[in-house]
Amino acid sequence: MAVSTIFPGESYNRETMHSIQIPDQKQIVDKAKAAFVGLAIGDALGATCEFMTPGEIKLRYGVHKQIIGKGWLFLKAGQVTDDTEMSICIGRAIRDSRGWNLRAVAEEFADWVRGRPVDVGSTCSRGIRNYLIHQTLEMPPSRWSAGNGALMRMLPVALYTLGNDELLTQYVVEQAHLTHNNPLSDAACIFFGRLLHEALTGAGLNQLQIHTDDFVEEHSDFNYHPYPGKSSAYVVDTVQTVFHFLFSTATFEECLIGTVNQGGDADTTGALAGMLAGAVHGIEGIPKRWLKRLDSRVYSEVEALSEYLVTHSPALVIKT
Ligand code: MN
Ligand code: MN
Repeated sequence: MAVSTIFPGESYNRETMHSIQIPDQKQIVDKAKAAFVGLAIGDALGATCEFMTPGEIKLRYGVHKQIIGKGWLFLKAGQVTDDTEMSICIGRAIRDSRGWNLRAVAEEFADWVRGRPVDVGSTCSRGIRNYLIHQTLEMPPSRWSAGNGALMRMLPVALYTLGNDELLTQYVVEQAHLTHNNPLSDAACIFFGRLLHEALTGAGLNQLQIHTDDFVEEHSDFNYHPYPGKSSAYVVDTVQTVFHFLFSTATFEECLIGTVNQGGDADTTGALAGMLAGAVHGIEGIPKRWLKRLDSRVYSEVEALSEYLVTHSPALVIKT
């Protein structure tokens, strides 16, 4: 009888897939919520300084640390952008299809674009248009699609595949290729999914950093020692920025403030840093002033989706 551990303290039987006990499920659900809420907060906080340089941010805000909206998109305080919205699209597609359904993800993206979102990245837009015209679910490989647009929205896939690395790898790359077909983007999507899986099941920053340093040894493009200081939408710059601030800070607040004040693609680096720092530090680690400011409809939807996704992972079978 093959029994393997998915969650701390839990084991299940691979043949019957009957879960025995899930004592820590509540903790996992809480961390999943903190990851998704953290992503939305990083997006809302960072969008104010998207495309600014650190010097411009300093001149204008000193240290940017309040969710005030505005930025080049003229946002309301607490409003989120494509990073959170596309993540929500993927979460809804999984929930409404009762499982992984790539076409449903593409349809959600298409509906979202029809609704005239506040921002759509150019590579995302091209991929969605390609789906609408040709109904294809994969863009051709391209060295020009090494942006962070597939990475920024992968959280729901990681939540839904918790406990199963094979499914994570398959689904996270499938969703990526709807718009971004590039090995650097793929590697980042898979590895961020693995980091999330680890953080959700209780790994702390030290453990995540050990695995990250192994990862960058294998994928030297992503090496972040010393931190090059670029934070553009190029997936390498984005990943280096997130690693640098995640592993050089001790709290959610410090991590996010450091990340977004680096400017560049600040809503996306903020979203990804918020996702990982949220999973590590939990909802109690997120400053109350930020939780209060986040668009309340977004807040409740990402919380509900997180709970749904993480409790419907094919690797986590409902107790019988
Ligand atoms: Mn954005
Ligand atoms: Mn962005």
